Amino acid sequence: MIPVRVVVVGGGVIGLLTAMECVRAGAQVELVDQAGIPSRLATSHDRHRVVRALHRGDPVLTRAAVRAHAGWLEVERRLGTRFYHQVGALTAMPDERVPAELELLRRAGAAAQELPAGELAARFPRVRFPAGRSAVFEPAAGAVLADRMLAALAGWLRGVPGVRLHPGRRATRVGPAGGVRLDGGSELSGDRVVVAAGPWSRELLPAALGADLTLYRQTMLSYSPIPSRDAWAGTPAIPAFGTPHGAWLMPPVADTPVRLSAASACREVPELTDRVPPDHWRNQLVDQFRELLVDFDPAAVLGASDGYYLADRAGGGPVLARLGDGAVWAYAACGGMSFKFAPLVARALADRALGRPPHRTGLAPVDQPRELAPTVRPSGGAR
Ligand SMILES: Cc1cc2nc3c(=O)[nH]c(=O)nc-3n(C[C@H](O)[C@H](O)[C@H](O)COP(=O)(O)OP(=O)(O)OC[C@H]3O[C@@H](n4cnc5c(N)ncnc54)[C@H](O)[C@@H]3O)c2cc1C
Repeated sequence: MIPVRVVVVGGGVIGLLTAMECVRAGAQVELVDQAGIPSRLATSHDRHRVVRALHRGDPVLTRAAVRAHAGWLEVERRLGTRFYHQVGALTAMPDERVPAELELLRRAGAAAQELPAGELAARFPRVRFPAGRSAVFEPAAGAVLADRMLAALAGWLRGVPGVRLHPGRRATRVGPAGGVRLDGGSELSGDRVVVAAGPWSRELLPAALGADLTLYRQTMLSYSPIPSRDAWAGTPAIPAFGTPHGAWLMPPVADTPVRLSAASACREVPELTDRVPPDHWRNQLVDQFRELLVDFDPAAVLGASDGYYLADRAGGGPVLARLGDGAVWAYAACGGMSFKFAPLVARALADRALGRPPHRTGLAPVDQPRELAPTVRPSGGAR
């Protein structure tokens, strides 16, 4: 049988995992990225990303996250590289919400326990949780060392027959029949194209779809824990401190610094520019963590950086779109949580690219893709 030829645009977590799924199913894959492979520009390229089950009040997403967790362990086994660190996740919330969220996790098959306010203070003396907060602790949750995983995945793809990687090549046009034009004028042709271009995807997709997407920019601090890293041993990821600003923390894992951010440090922006946070955004995070961490020292902030992602303007989540007759599939927007779900999303994208019945992810926008007329941007694309 003649193998399906798949061109993947984008070497972030979605593009690389989709390439892996396709080649494992016998396809020939060409993967192109405007930067390296893996790409340091990618939103996915960070020290770590949290993988946890609890999506408060949402049983469907919580069940999907349990499956995604298993998907990450499977990717780790395939790559033979350790990148998942089971540090646990602690989600603080008003006391009265805890029983319902524990029940949600129980029904999804995820282990969890309640930590009442008094126990929180005793177990995590460096953290000042707001009054009236208890927490749900998920022991199986953890951190994917993102940069390590992406490098291992790119290395795996490099060693597999049937895969050609094209780092440093920018796609400028995606044709409805499966052709991808690259800067310099050459063209890659495939039976199918998967566009997984992260926050840049509007440049390659029909303007009507781009208009439905919102670009977000989020500031994050890198922090060297005070008094010492050892004092933070055993600190889980804290996806929510239970503050109105939506503060969250990633602990030191392996050799990574602490990462600190908040929903309030995420804002809508018109375009992708630099990654240097304006002082205002950095300072508002410093002010929040001065309140939340007992030993917080602003001088120990190692740096701050901004990341970008696209989200559906209406629902705030991801967007999967089929262009024309199905030769082109675009993960047009990743929303703020596609890293965690990437093993499920990649399998669903590969299913569609290969013409297989798609696995259900539990993410409605992925299971019910948008269908778009095959209009494409003119050669050169929007900048
Ligand atoms: C601060 C921050 C924190 C986050 N935390 C979490 C979290 O804890 N958990 C979670 O699940 N998610 C989180 N996310 C979201 C998550 O990181 C993203 O959903 C995910 O990484 C998106 O991956 P991607 O592969 O779709 O895009 P990207 O990783 O951005 O990859 C896109 C790739 O496409 C390439 N590309 C773009 N245009 C072209 C072109 N024209 N030609 C060739 N190549 C091109 C780029 O160079 C890039 O390598 C966070 C995001 C941010 C910003």
